[in-house]
Amino acid sequence: MILKSRHRLDDIEDVEEFYSAINRDNLTKSLSEDRPYTYWTIELYDQVNGIRGGGGLGILAADTRRVAEQMNVPMALITPFYPHESHQRLGEDGRVINDSIPVNYKDFGFELIDTVNIKCNKDIVELSVVEKQFNSTRILAITEPNFGELYSGDSCGDHRLYQEVALGFGGYQALKLVGLKPAIMQLNEVATFFAALARLDELVSNGMDFYEAVVYTRKHTLYTNHTLVQAAEASFSFDQFERYVFPNLKSKAVRKWICDKFEDGRIRLSSVTIEIAELRSGVSKLHARVANYRDLSGNKVRFKAVTNGIDMPYWIMPETIQYYKEIGALDKFCLPTSNYADNVKTIDAAQIRELKWIGREFLNKVLEERPDQNGKILHFGEDELVYDFKRRFVDYKRPWLPFTDTERLKRILQNHNAHYILSGRVHAGDERMVNKLREVLEKVQSDEYLSTHVHYIADYDEKLARALSVGSNVSINIPIVGLEACGTSWEKDVGNMCLLVSTHDGGVADESNDSYLCVSGANEEEEIESMYQRMDEAGAAWENNFDLEFWVKTQLEAYLPVISGTRMLKDYLDYLF
Ligand SMILES: *Cc1c(COP(=O)(O)O)cnc(C)c1O
Repeated sequence: MILKSRHRLDDIEDVEEFYSAINRDNLTKSLSEDRPYTYWTIELYDQVNGIRGGGGLGILAADTRRVAEQMNVPMALITPFYPHESHQRLGEDGRVINDSIPVNYKDFGFELIDTVNIKCNKDIVELSVVEKQFNSTRILAITEPNFGELYSGDSCGDHRLYQEVALGFGGYQALKLVGLKPAIMQLNEVATFFAALARLDELVSNGMDFYEAVVYTRKHTLYTNHTLVQAAEASFSFDQFERYVFPNLKSKAVRKWICDKFEDGRIRLSSVTIEIAELRSGVSKLHARVANYRDLSGNKVRFKAVTNGIDMPYWIMPETIQYYKEIGALDKFCLPTSNYADNVKTIDAAQIRELKWIGREFLNKVLEERPDQNGKILHFGEDELVYDFKRRFVDYKRPWLPFTDTERLKRILQNHNAHYILSGRVHAGDERMVNKLREVLEKVQSDEYLSTHVHYIADYDEKLARALSVGSNVSINIPIVGLEACGTSWEKDVGNMCLLVSTHDGGVADESNDSYLCVSGANEEEEIESMYQRMDEAGAAWENNFDLEFWVKTQLEAYLPVISGTRMLKDYLDYLF
């Protein structure tokens, strides 16, 4: 592998050390600058580079690329650059309003390479290919003025199919334009299926035997699944494929192959993605086990569990990372050391409090620009405790649950001199959640104490997510058990020494349920009772050093390997090569 002079590791030996650590001598032969690991995603959440995602899928993509950069792994991430992004604010009536804001790739250091064409609906669509390089990695983005916003329109609609076709067929041409051949194609969810189809089509139209081309494409394609239920996934009609997909295929055999995959006139992308990818992964142990997928012959699909990790240096305060390294819990690649579990036992409450105070000052700084629902600028003192619930407002995450008994919530906040911060995006058009949020805010505003101690911060984004993780004390993660694929915000919280109050789901369930303040119950009523008890315990733990140390150490001992993005990339490389 050719190494560039500008890389983030100290010297070449470090990289070799990493590769030997993951015990794959052939890795350097499999991956090179012009045969990189390619990562395909319809969503990237990377605000400093001008691309704002919707949630965890995009965060994972950005973290994966950054970790690859730190490890000097050659990677090309292919994604759309959406010329518009949505921001949210609260209207007078307590309902969320979406604003669409134009964004230009030129303002974020992307360079125009050239254009490529795809055929859609009898028209030729010209797509710009823009690129930004980061040492061993790059973002290759395709864009055009009418590309629209992320997830705009119906998931089975023409525009969504257009975006997916543009990413797949346009992105595959973009790779060739910059002289890259994919060593591996990782498909981050089925919206990127067309990239693998474009490859199959190219192999066959270049003269490879059709069946050989299918085998070859399958062997080099990894489908990463984040969705639990296959039936919930988008499907398209034959007519839509005739207008958007078939015109982009050169090979008649590939066209026939795809035509055979229709059932009752519709095609489900998950079914064909399973057909085209022999390698398949789920994003946590529990998710990989329970994802219920069948291939077209009706056989159950197995997923390899590769739990999502996070780019620790990005999400965790530098002072905290430094501290983990000093006590020998993390090595220089942010991989937990072989004796990290013993080393985290040396953490003491004074250190936790000191680090948390640095984080709190950072949170206060970020909040200066983010007033709450009353237009008030928040500033929390050293004697005040902060609870947060920060994640997308979707039904299964249950943001309203702590407001079931507002008197109870009030008592907890009063007992611990605490504030509660609520933040999260509502998916555009999700009327049910818009109303649920309005109801929660009505309850809050009708009580004098709650209206000054529960704060809703609009337009949840990466910056606020990080600030809350570093600066708050207790974070609440209460998805309906079985519905969270992995979740990564809880990982940011554990890494930043927040006490985690959570149901046993997603990546949290990779480890045992006594590793954190677990919310459980046979029904929702019991879970609510358990949640209030755990919230109270978490508040009390911050009031005495013994319990604080106990929970922080217990959480880190269980989850440091889980949350390490380096561990995740290592797992992917182990699986792929
Ligand atoms: C980390 C993060 C997410 C992922 O959240 P989960 O609900 O835990 O998957 C979503 N949005 C933003 C802005 C984040 O920073």
